[in-house]
Amino acid sequence: MAIISTEAIVLRSMDHRETSKLCFFFTRKCGKVIGVLKGIRKDPRKFGSSADKCSVNDIVFYQYRNSDIHLVGQCDMREFFPAIREDIKRINAAEYACELLNKVMPLEEPNPGVYSLLSDFLRALDNPGPGARDARHNSDVNDPLGTRNLSPAGISTLVHMFQIKVLALSGFRPHIDSCVRCGKNIMGRTRFSVLKGGLMCGVCGPRDTDSIAVSAGAVATLLYVEQHDWTACLKLGMAPSIRIELKNILNTFLLYHLEKNIRSAKFL
Ligand SMILES: [Zn+2]
Repeated sequence: MAIISTEAIVLRSMDHRETSKLCFFFTRKCGKVIGVLKGIRKDPRKFGSSADKCSVNDIVFYQYRNSDIHLVGQCDMREFFPAIREDIKRINAAEYACELLNKVMPLEEPNPGVYSLLSDFLRALDNPGPGARDARHNSDVNDPLGTRNLSPAGISTLVHMFQIKVLALSGFRPHIDSCVRCGKNIMGRTRFSVLKGGLMCGVCGPRDTDSIAVSAGAVATLLYVEQHDWTACLKLGMAPSIRIELKNILNTFLLYHLEKNIRSAKFL
């Protein structure tokens, strides 16, 4: 048995037996971990956190070798993201990200890149900051920088950035550098094949009845988000037509290749 101390984001939590809670955490050190917080419902003061969904906590857990469920000895709140919890659209986006990771990520495989991505996403959703173009309304005189007001368009932009980066970091990256069928560089008209998992050139695309037309702008956005860090991506503007294309491509791709239906996707 090892004792592990790490930062952890609650992906899902549920009541367990009479007085306990079972939490699916995404941890910085160990990836997805299932932990039980014994007695937390009987005596909430036993832990320094109520282990709410989407919160960031410092946890200490006892990692058993012969069980997937580990005992959490300490859980202290680090970040709660109050602005997310005041806005149903932001709650839906945060829950979608947590559900996606809970369904896609394997148990106890460290992936610090995915951990950083989820915490960056939740922070941007809570407070997009003055660097986030397109994500804010600037109409509120009490909030000139728009840090507390995130428009529905801004939320969609953040969700698409999260989706593109999750695919790249979890090994499900769509093939977008060349034609997925013939391997040639793509010039001019382009289509996207969900079945084949990538872009198709002007010759291969029309032969594939399942492929859908995709604009050069949407392809450039996919590549930009994949190749740049989160802070640079926050400055990226996304036109409404590109958001619609990305929503269609990414949601269909995720559904087909992960073979998992993300229930909270329908609220986005
Ligand atoms: Zn081709």
